[in-house]
Amino acid sequence: MRIAFIVIFLSSWVLNLPARELPVKKDNLPFSEENLKKMLIEKRPAEFILGQTKERRNIEAWFFPGTSDYNALVIGGVHGSELSSIEVTRALIQQLLAGSKSYYNVIIIPSLFPDNALKALSSPGRIGSTDNLGRYSMTASVDPNRQMPTPGKAYDENNGLDHLGRMIEIENQLLLQLIQTFKPQRIINVHAIRNTGYGGVYADPRTDNTGIALGYLSDSQLAITIARYIDEHGGNVNGNNLYSNPTALYYKDPEPVPTGNFQKRNMAGSILDSNRGSGVSLGTWASTAVTNDIDPSKNRDAMRIITMEYPGCKRPADYKDPSEQLFQQKQVDIYSSSIRIIFLGNYYVEDKPGNMAKK
Ligand SMILES: [Zn+2]
Repeated sequence: MRIAFIVIFLSSWVLNLPARELPVKKDNLPFSEENLKKMLIEKRPAEFILGQTKERRNIEAWFFPGTSDYNALVIGGVHGSELSSIEVTRALIQQLLAGSKSYYNVIIIPSLFPDNALKALSSPGRIGSTDNLGRYSMTASVDPNRQMPTPGKAYDENNGLDHLGRMIEIENQLLLQLIQTFKPQRIINVHAIRNTGYGGVYADPRTDNTGIALGYLSDSQLAITIARYIDEHGGNVNGNNLYSNPTALYYKDPEPVPTGNFQKRNMAGSILDSNRGSGVSLGTWASTAVTNDIDPSKNRDAMRIITMEYPGCKRPADYKDPSEQLFQQKQVDIYSSSIRIIFLGNYYVEDKPGNMAKK
């Protein structure tokens, strides 16, 4: 018995396997449905803890009230190596703390995987390099953006498993429970991309629970409107091709199909061993409606989900040239303002608001 334990311990240490994670049960969440409802009713800015990471760090979250009953969610730092994405979400928090108002009520999680962001920061010379330090929680971990449940199905906190039957990392478990409780109509997932030619703002096509397309026009128009705002203020959104053939389609994703047709999805992200780069992304899961769940409170419409790819993973301070630092700081501000003014503004508003505040 003891030998078996030691063997398991050693093999996980030698292979650097992620520690086994248990599903976080609903009763053990630091945030509760009651607290979220209270925030929506009181309509005051508030900071709260989403939960704790694998290394027991707090995952911080902020609530800011909007002028409507619609809810939005902003996520940064899904990939800890993409430090600029965290700069963007933090700048957004500062703008809202300074009193700027938005149309949507919003929860902002500036850094979903703070353990991984710290790993990236621990090696300053490698920030933004192809080493990708901080992208994965451990050497053998699944890509944090490829561990979502089966599209069309709700997240089940009793098993904590993704579409491929793998245990979802604790940070994503907490995110999924927040989404199912807060029920945002729209989500923006702020990433960063090393190839600055692909920087920009993208939208996933919404479908019903069986994958039938519901229409891409308003989603793509929202993404393009955000991209135009960034472009007009001097930021780089090269991936949106605004001056030749404007697009809200991420270059690796299948072409959106007309309403009523079956929408193909990209189920393979980066090519990694043991299928660690494969699985369902947040974009695919969120943009697919959930119907017929055993728990009807988990049913929801397809959410609008925008993926922002900030060009370059470094923070402004990581650039050597002072003029480049200045440009990057300005660009962080433009990207965060585009979220505040367009994404959280009264643009392409969904058919109906969430029902959380009214229950
Ligand atoms: Zn990313």
